[in-house]
Amino acid sequence: MRRSERQGKGGVFVVAEIRNGRTHSCTYELTSKARELADSRGTSVTVVVLRAPAADEPRELFLYGADEVLLVEDRRLASLDALVQARIVARLIEEGDPEIVLAPATTTGRTVLPAVAALVETGLTADCTGLSIDDETGLLLQTRPAIGGNVMATIKTPDHLPQMATVRPKTFPVAPPRERPGRIERPRLDEALFASSVVCLSDEVVAGDETNIQDLDVVVSGGKGLKRPEGFALIRELARLLDGGVGASRPTVEAKWMAYPHQVGLSGKVVAPRVYIAAGISGAVQHLAGMQTAETIIAINKDPEAPIFRVADVALCGDLYDIVPRLIEALDRERGKLHD
Ligand SMILES: Cc1cc2nc3c(=O)[nH]c(=O)nc-3n(C[C@H](O)[C@H](O)[C@H](O)COP(=O)(O)OP(=O)(O)OC[C@H]3O[C@@H](n4cnc5c(N)ncnc54)[C@H](O)[C@@H]3O)c2cc1C
Repeated sequence: MRRSERQGKGGVFVVAEIRNGRTHSCTYELTSKARELADSRGTSVTVVVLRAPAADEPRELFLYGADEVLLVEDRRLASLDALVQARIVARLIEEGDPEIVLAPATTTGRTVLPAVAALVETGLTADCTGLSIDDETGLLLQTRPAIGGNVMATIKTPDHLPQMATVRPKTFPVAPPRERPGRIERPRLDEALFASSVVCLSDEVVAGDETNIQDLDVVVSGGKGLKRPEGFALIRELARLLDGGVGASRPTVEAKWMAYPHQVGLSGKVVAPRVYIAAGISGAVQHLAGMQTAETIIAINKDPEAPIFRVADVALCGDLYDIVPRLIEALDRERGKLHD
């Protein structure tokens, strides 16, 4: 809606990501960021939780900065009907009048939030990598890569409220937990909001071949420099020895050497592990967008001018087919010693 028709008194809303009945870590990341934004606006943080009935209350959200949780529990929310979720979030926005609404740029967030924005007649900046408040105007500055990741665009929503953005998981850190008071409200909603034209015929979890690389401390990624799909066997072995997961650059995913859930970068996942190893990856901006917040970056590349070396903490210049087997051997030896 136009700013003249709303006041934005409801502070910052965060739409929680619920997976298998549990609050996903990206919700804590967004709640932490929302706290920071709300503090600079002198306002409050409300987390909207839509889920099937569960035994526990999502009180952990208070530790990361929420003042209030709007908890909508209904067994019909067990399956994703994006329109039902969008209607409910839109109704809560109409009643709560937030100035800012944030949601994770996950499959759910990317599906539900555009519909919410349309229902409440405002804009939406998708896939933000930076959020701050403009000191002069108090507007939300929503920064995201544009034009294939070659420029960073900062977008404002000056004429409409709320200002809405989705943010990719792992973009912001989770704040240290802090005891603070908070309240849980269970809003009463019209039955009509739950009307669904979707019939769920079956519901199954498609098992991935590995854990989500976003949750791991070590990610070892391979790029086109591997030359052939079998090269990923080395990457897997190195990752296994480091208790990590396998990442991949986009061309290797496009060539079907690796599955899409392993893709790191602008059009893949953002990872922020303690250690990121890039082998045979040039370091294009679109790849860097997915890994440059890793604590330690180790790059293996035979080209001393490869851009990946500009962000690397450790640069191993040489043939990966020489370096990776030596790393594997050394780690194997160390592990052997540990088990002797
Ligand atoms: C809109 C858009 C979105 C994109 N999203 C993504 C994304 O999410 N993720 C992503 O990765 N890319 C993405 N890209 C593609 C990106 O621009 C690059 O093309 C890509 O990252 C390059 O992949 P690469 O580094 O594996 O391959 P290359 O650029 O071909 O690099 C291969 C590297 O391997 C090195 N090398 C070769 N042989 C060896 C060897 N034997 N030993 C050691 N090093 C060797 C070479 O020196 C080179 O640096 C996107 C592009 C666009 C336009």
